[in-house]
Amino acid sequence: MNKRTNADDVVNADASQAETITKNQKTTLNTSKVSNFSIIESTLREGEQFSNAFFSTEDKIKIAKALDSFGVEYIEITSPAASEQSRQDCITICNLGLTAKILTHVRCHMDDVRIAVETGVHGLNVVIGTSAYLREFSHGKDMEYIIEQATEVITFIKNKGLEVRFSSEDSFRSDLVDLLNLYKIVDKLGVNRVGIADTVGCANPRQVFDLVKTLRSVVSCDIECHFHNDTGCAIANAYAGLEAGATHIDTTVLGIGERNGITSLGGFFARMYVDDKEYILENYNLDQLREVEKLVAGIVSVDIPFNNYITGDCVITHKPGTHAKAVINDPEKYEILKPNDFGMMPGCLIEPKLTSCDTVKERLEQLDLILSDDEIKDVTTQIKIISELKSLKLVEVDVFLRSFHKKVINAHLNYD
Ligand SMILES: [Zn+2]
Repeated sequence: MNKRTNADDVVNADASQAETITKNQKTTLNTSKVSNFSIIESTLREGEQFSNAFFSTEDKIKIAKALDSFGVEYIEITSPAASEQSRQDCITICNLGLTAKILTHVRCHMDDVRIAVETGVHGLNVVIGTSAYLREFSHGKDMEYIIEQATEVITFIKNKGLEVRFSSEDSFRSDLVDLLNLYKIVDKLGVNRVGIADTVGCANPRQVFDLVKTLRSVVSCDIECHFHNDTGCAIANAYAGLEAGATHIDTTVLGIGERNGITSLGGFFARMYVDDKEYILENYNLDQLREVEKLVAGIVSVDIPFNNYITGDCVITHKPGTHAKAVINDPEKYEILKPNDFGMMPGCLIEPKLTSCDTVKERLEQLDLILSDDEIKDVTTQIKIISELKSLKLVEVDVFLRSFHKKVINAHLNYD
């Protein structure tokens, strides 16, 4: 009898758990924005805080144009109050006539805001520290002061007819009641978005989901999220934010930014592509991703990491024979991301013996080595001959390609 009662309890518990899960899924589906979001691309703001980033005006123009062509909805640039050069660059980028809207990121202070509204930007991303840490050690102001300041700044920007986002800094270490009260007030003042920022990179996806979900229930405006990647959660946090009803995600190319950066544009798109390929392919030019990344990597003098999402040198290579054969026949067997959609050749250098001029050409491009068609034909034949004699690892193929390229360059120099 006892046993039966226990079993019944288990069945009942399972039924009620299942009901709760279904209910949660339904709620999630109602608010989820995984198939309807906007990118606020911040390489020219957050990315400028990367230790290797020193963007010239020309660099900024190239990056802004590349991001616009990729299809991001917003480009965020450094505050024009930061320096005279920043102000002039801000005006220059606003005058490029891009499709993407231009935002600038400013402190919640009338001095900064007055300068920013005169530059031609479409909107201002206003930020102020709300956590006890920042209130004590950064600006030293209390919540009453913050509300007063926010009201003056938001009203001023709205009267200028510009978009305004109001965000706390260090949101996950801020007092939740203070935060929600503040956001309710700014929502009523008519902000376009409120922002959640994991400034120190401490949040995990569950915390993000809970906070955004709660915020979603108290404000009617859009919700923007900004996640630092100190513990490797930036992409997962962005996804969790969208699932809970966030509408805008901050990214940078290759994730560059303060410390080890924020949600990477490419990584975020790899994640979202798996969820809703049609939406992503329809709204963004994914095949330009690699070029955008190469552009920024070159400007900030870093290599694209070997395991970078989709565009890394190793992400579409397969070593095990069974995987390699399957991928040759049908890449989707072992690859959830279709290389062609990201402007990559499928199955690059899967197996040296089976390689072709096209895959060698692709590999050369990944290594930033340029050879003529005849030279590519020549090196491909040599790789095939060597791989008949011994099995070649990808790293050995790379060494061979580099040394072949060096010889070609030297031969040209001697000839010249
Ligand atoms: Zn940041």
